[in-house]
Amino acid sequence: MLGLILAVLTATSSPSPPPAPIRQYDVLVSAGHEGRPASCPRFPKRKCNLGAAGERQWTPIVADEVARSLRASGIAVAREPADFDGFFEVKAAVFIHFDGSNNPCTTGASIGYHNSGSISAAKQWRDMYSRYFPFTFMPDNFTVNLRDYYGFRQVHAADGALVIELGEISCPAQRQWLASRLKPAADLIADFIRQLIVKK
Ligand SMILES: [Zn+2]
Repeated sequence: MLGLILAVLTATSSPSPPPAPIRQYDVLVSAGHEGRPASCPRFPKRKCNLGAAGERQWTPIVADEVARSLRASGIAVAREPADFDGFFEVKAAVFIHFDGSNNPCTTGASIGYHNSGSISAAKQWRDMYSRYFPFTFMPDNFTVNLRDYYGFRQVHAADGALVIELGEISCPAQRQWLASRLKPAADLIADFIRQLIVKK
């Protein structure tokens, strides 16, 4: 009997890792592929995707400007690289990317999201960016990677969580157009987020 009690006590008091704290911010902004490949060994189950040629140089520029603009409005921003720890509870989350294709100029801007709670956010961003971006806008979630983006698992965003692909960096015409518009595109994302999170 004593042995059984001891066994039960041991089982119930065996150390388990404390649950990761939920981190609360207004907005999460992640720069696609940033910090890789250095961060990849910490996430061995994840594909160490380094992005399209040149993409890793551009996503932090955009993400930094989105974060700067939002913080200037008093919004609390978690500015994260591609791989990060923990779980975030936010109003909005954006994962910044540029697309790449083996057949240049067959794609363009696009949006990814994982569930219906992000549909209106996606519509709002498409309305804003398609007025500005003069190339193709692909259908939402046109790749599995957009719909099942790994980052969605680490965030709950009440007003929407989107992968935002700003254009096809492997297409010379789009690349050239984007090169001089990284900051304005980022400011447009910040405007979009400000509108999105004050709506509710
Ligand atoms: Zn990417």
